[in-house]
Amino acid sequence: MPRKNLIAGNWKMNNTIPEAVVLAQEISNRMERDWLELVDVAVCPPFVDLKPVKSVFEFDRVDIAVGAQNVYWEPKGAFTGEISIAMIKNIGCAFCIVGHSERRNLFGETNEEVNLKARALIEADITPIICVGESLSVRDGGTYLDFVTAQVRAAYAGMDAADAARTVVAYEPVWAIGTGRTATPEQAEEVCAAIRATVSDMFGAEVAENLRVLYGGSMNEGNAALLLAEPDIDGGLIGGAALKADSFIQIVKEA
Ligand code: PGA
Repeated sequence: MPRKNLIAGNWKMNNTIPEAVVLAQEISNRMERDWLELVDVAVCPPFVDLKPVKSVFEFDRVDIAVGAQNVYWEPKGAFTGEISIAMIKNIGCAFCIVGHSERRNLFGETNEEVNLKARALIEADITPIICVGESLSVRDGGTYLDFVTAQVRAAYAGMDAADAARTVVAYEPVWAIGTGRTATPEQAEEVCAAIRATVSDMFGAEVAENLRVLYGGSMNEGNAALLLAEPDIDGGLIGGAALKADSFIQIVKEA
């Protein structure tokens, strides 16, 4: 069975509740319902916006999922400022981004933490979108395939094939995020194929065949079609372009 593309919007730290509701309504209004048979769509707003955005989609009866951008793996307790998996589950999150490069680079998130988060999410039946990607210096140094596949191995450590089957990977080269400098389809495909090969090596060909590998990094309505045409790219994790309903809808249409 061919993989169904997933287009996920990462709103990052943007939109107050009223702004988030307006954007969710615009997305819902413009989304042709039959596109959603062919492509899965999710948006990942900030925590405080999750419930209002989910409510808009429920009210409109539109099959757009919501996801969180981060989570903590401990079930509850004295972890000031953190949000638990039960909390996002209760809101109805189907996805959660883990290991975004902004979390790794600005907030010191490690491969071990990414692994703990991903495993705890799977346990709660929330799909982790596991982000990997190299910096510009690693890219220029030529070791990017080793770097990214090592991130993949670390993220999946201790999982079995059934766990791995419930994940999504997003390849997001750090040099392409928010820079307007997109990876070429060939560059993105090379790494996405290497990610799939690594998952195949760890968990077998069937898991790898069914795994969705997204590309992220300045994906927009102008470049989405060519990126998504690559055999190992199964969707996109969209930052800047997900904040404009027109652009986001256009990308979904391309998918
Ligand atoms: P961008 O962000 O599309 O703005 O480059 C992508 C991401 O960081 O997920």
